[in-house]
Amino acid sequence: MKVFLLLSALLVRAAIALPGPAITKRSNTSLPVAFACEALSLAFKAETFYPGSVNYTSENEHFWTPTDYSAPACVFTPKTQFQISAALLIFETFQANFAVRGGGHMPIPGYANIDGGILVGLTDLNQITLSSDKSYVSVGPGRRWEEVYDFLEPYGLVALGGRVGIVGVPGLLLGGGISFYSNQYGFASDNVIAFEVVLASGLVVEATSTSYADLFWALKGGGNSFGIVTRFDLLTYTSPTICAGIGEYPSTEKTAFLSAVANFGQYGDADAKAAVIPSIFMLASLNTTVYTSALFYDGTECNQPALVNFTSLPAIANSYGPTTLATYVSGTDALIADGTRQVFQVISSIADASALEIVHDTFVEMVTANIYGVAGLQASVAFQPVTKNFIQQGINKGGNPQGVDITKAPYFWMVENFSWTDPADDALINAFAVNVTSVLEAKLTAAGQQAQFKYMNDAGYGQEIFQNYGAGNLAKLQAIRTKYDPQGIFTYLMPGGWKVATA
Ligand SMILES: Cc1cc2nc3c(=O)[nH]c(=O)nc-3n(C[C@H](O)[C@H](O)[C@H](O)COP(=O)(O)OP(=O)(O)OC[C@H]3O[C@@H](n4cnc5c(N)ncnc54)[C@H](O)[C@@H]3O)c2cc1C
Repeated sequence: MKVFLLLSALLVRAAIALPGPAITKRSNTSLPVAFACEALSLAFKAETFYPGSVNYTSENEHFWTPTDYSAPACVFTPKTQFQISAALLIFETFQANFAVRGGGHMPIPGYANIDGGILVGLTDLNQITLSSDKSYVSVGPGRRWEEVYDFLEPYGLVALGGRVGIVGVPGLLLGGGISFYSNQYGFASDNVIAFEVVLASGLVVEATSTSYADLFWALKGGGNSFGIVTRFDLLTYTSPTICAGIGEYPSTEKTAFLSAVANFGQYGDADAKAAVIPSIFMLASLNTTVYTSALFYDGTECNQPALVNFTSLPAIANSYGPTTLATYVSGTDALIADGTRQVFQVISSIADASALEIVHDTFVEMVTANIYGVAGLQASVAFQPVTKNFIQQGINKGGNPQGVDITKAPYFWMVENFSWTDPADDALINAFAVNVTSVLEAKLTAAGQQAQFKYMNDAGYGQEIFQNYGAGNLAKLQAIRTKYDPQGIFTYLMPGGWKVATA
């Protein structure tokens, strides 16, 4: 029966899809999706789930924030790349809309889930193996970074990935990926040496710097427009022990804290083993603002000049000290809010003290004036320093789609994060997030501090990502998308996420 169904799908596809008119964006009807769910269920009964089943609910709620829960018509959890090929055939045949979810940490409704379509949950594509020479680790898209770090720890190795362990492997890599090691080695995706990808045609290919090299380049930051990645081969690095922890400082330390951030922003690659994630945290229920910084050093000696401007601040709390990457992330994962409503927005500036002042003062003032009364509100800005060496590493490793302008580096890539508890406040917070971002951008531009690049993984709904990639790379990404997915399966049948074709 399964064979018959797939053959029929193939024939129908051949009849309707060749030579292949481009798919136009269309609203989904329930009938094509119902047929596709039924076809999946016939072919892959054990991997297809309907509303009401335990697996459907757990896959639909396999997201960091409830704002991402949707109402998919069915859920498909493939166990192999070949099941994905067959599913793509079914989706195309029935013209059924679908979404793909890895770790579920992109906090944007509809970007990795779908109302009325098919949710493809990659949970069971969870391989993790070390190469025989230990130079790379092969990881399936169902994995989270904490699992990668745990797996590598006994070997004294690490791979570049999330600074928070619960984040999913695939989304982070397809958007670039800022790691504690990025100051030394570039984006996490600059350190991928192979992607196994299921293309729109159903073909499973391995993209490397020498085979499908254009696709390989595109996947290092081009998002989900090109295929479904079923395996990432990641370079490993020796880093058996590190220094890491979080310092928390009172609001009275504003000047010294911002000065430490500005200094690291400007001179952070003097010692590329150091990394920081400095943030302002506004905790409305406690009516307080605190400053925090995750501090990191790739080495065993924790007393480092590169971090002294932070370690010398009077701290309310400080956990910085010797540890391992796996231990550090498992400790901080417990502190990351899960289950609250969340939204991100991204802005970027050149690494200058006056940019920090503008963002800090405007953000605090606008949050206090407009949304401070919202139940459970936490509002933060993380000032992520991006050094020249970070950008140079990507260039050295063959370049990436982001094409960040190294001549204007260093930068701050800042992520605003709002979390709250009551769905009734969704509209207010979403509107505020967009508004404060446009005010911040206008002020940074007026001060000559605005930077062009917007980091996809920290962005909010509809922010312009590919339009701000450098070196004319959007046109190149669009051409690669057309080559590998001429009908736009991953653009129109899979509408969630940033799409190069419509940027
Ligand atoms: C608490 C927290 C901490 C974070 N920390 C960091 C950090 O340290 N560094 C950093 O760079 N970013 C960080 N991020 C941002 C994070 O990288 C992005 O949200 C990323 O998209 C999450 O990946 P995921 O697999 O969990 O996402 P998902 O929500 O599952 O997917 C994100 C996008 O990727 C697509 N996608 C997923 N898997 C595949 C696949 N196999 N093939 C094709 N497309 C796919 C989805 O369709 C979706 O559009 C953090 C986010 C959170 C919420």
